[in-house]
Amino acid sequence: MSEVISVQESLSEILPADVFSVDDDQIARVSIDTSDGIPVGRAAAVVYPTTTQQVADLVRFAARESIPIVTQGARTGVVGGATAVDGAILVNLTRMDAILEISVEDQTATCQPGVNTKRLADAVAEKGLFYPPDPGSVSISTIGGNIATNAGGMQCLKYGTTGRFVRELTVVTGAGEIIRVGHKTAKGVASLDLASLFVGSEGTLGIITEATLALRPAPGEVLGAYGVFRTMSEALEAANRVVASPYGPTALEVMDGQIIRAINALNRAEVLPNDAEAILIVQSDATGSAAEDIGHFAEIFTTSGAIRTVTATTAAEVSEIMDLRRQLHPAMRRAYGAVLNEDIAVPRGRLLELFEGIAEIAQELDVPIATGGHVGDGNLHPLIGFDADKPESRALADAAFEKVMALAAELGGTITGEHGVGVIKRPLLDSELSAEVRALQRGIKAVFDPAGILNPGKKL
Ligand SMILES: Cc1cc2nc3c(=O)[nH]c(=O)nc-3n(C[C@H](O)[C@H](O)[C@H](O)COP(=O)(O)OP(=O)(O)OC[C@H]3O[C@@H](n4cnc5c(N)ncnc54)[C@H](O)[C@@H]3O)c2cc1C
Repeated sequence: MSEVISVQESLSEILPADVFSVDDDQIARVSIDTSDGIPVGRAAAVVYPTTTQQVADLVRFAARESIPIVTQGARTGVVGGATAVDGAILVNLTRMDAILEISVEDQTATCQPGVNTKRLADAVAEKGLFYPPDPGSVSISTIGGNIATNAGGMQCLKYGTTGRFVRELTVVTGAGEIIRVGHKTAKGVASLDLASLFVGSEGTLGIITEATLALRPAPGEVLGAYGVFRTMSEALEAANRVVASPYGPTALEVMDGQIIRAINALNRAEVLPNDAEAILIVQSDATGSAAEDIGHFAEIFTTSGAIRTVTATTAAEVSEIMDLRRQLHPAMRRAYGAVLNEDIAVPRGRLLELFEGIAEIAQELDVPIATGGHVGDGNLHPLIGFDADKPESRALADAAFEKVMALAAELGGTITGEHGVGVIKRPLLDSELSAEVRALQRGIKAVFDPAGILNPGKKL
């Protein structure tokens, strides 16, 4: 209790009263992210800074007192990156949500970290520009969180993940210094690329308080097609041929038979063919040639064995089918009660082995595993269903989770393609990284965060 009071008194000295709270209920409400079933610590305070200087003053105080800091955006993360740790000050950036500048000439946007991703994308679209990164959480996540997780999404197949759009960042380091890293310009190689270090750093190296992002000219109208397959191997052959073709799809997604049936059950209608074992969805936004490109992709689907290929002729029809794909997580939750939402990536050439291996794990442990996701870049989301009220069901799901991770590593892949490490995947890092690499990473953290206060116990 006295510790809480002393934190409160100290915060009162450095921050305006209306930007922090030590109220237990309020702290508890913001202590979690969107991950399921992980232990959450008890934080001492939550701060909603409104300026970079406030963040710097706060971090200097925390470093002096060795108080952990957990940085938060919208808390849509699914690996426990933004969850509270004991005694921490939660630094929630959602009040720093200004779009500071959109430059049509330079094709850049400068904003604060708490800006909602879709709000930024809509604002630049009004000026004829395009911000491509589109995580499934685009309408609820923040730009700061997207940078700190290097968020992916469907359009990343063509345009790349969030990091590719980061030009310049203002960051408060773990020592409370305000630094600017990167370049506003399209090119720039003056010294080491420190901005890249903050991309995907999950709040462990610094707090991003401003970002300049690269934009692109608005693309053409989005058109698409989907193919229905009897076997996953035919669908994967089609996927590989689409990616190898010279037409460059914007997105290429897959859903397996279990997901298809779970989505139909969620909608209480056969919105997708119930007897299909795989569906591929492809999109193109190529200016002037999208319809032609989609024709090529549809042809590839058919000649790879699709039993039905449906071409969407308007952007609205394309979003209808993509919206069904976005139901992957809620549909599996409805079907099984709770799910472990996996996020592995393997080289595309190993995808069939991955699907076969997952099927074997599901059968061996008698656990439902449904798999879908960004097949175009080999990043899939196996969803492992379990009954949260039955510990033995959870134990089996955990066993399946570990086996799926080991399988991804065995196939030359990674334990996380886009969701990040947080706390959930930290125990698995040794399976992917050597002791030397882990030591180097800890050394880098120590440079930016000498007191070790930033998101301790996460990511590294
Ligand atoms: C329905 C749904 C769909 C999703 N789809 C995708 C998807 O397609 N692709 C994908 O990549 N992810 C996806 N996610 C996961 C999640 O939305 C992303 O990781 C997102 O980038 C997190 O943003 P956020 O603002 O919610 O950050 P938070 O969850 O609040 O934080 C995430 C991490 O970033 C750190 N952080 C946040 N802000 C800052 C900052 N300003 N400075 C430093 N560190 C910071 C936090 O400490 C934490 O470690 C999905 C989640 C949901 C719920």
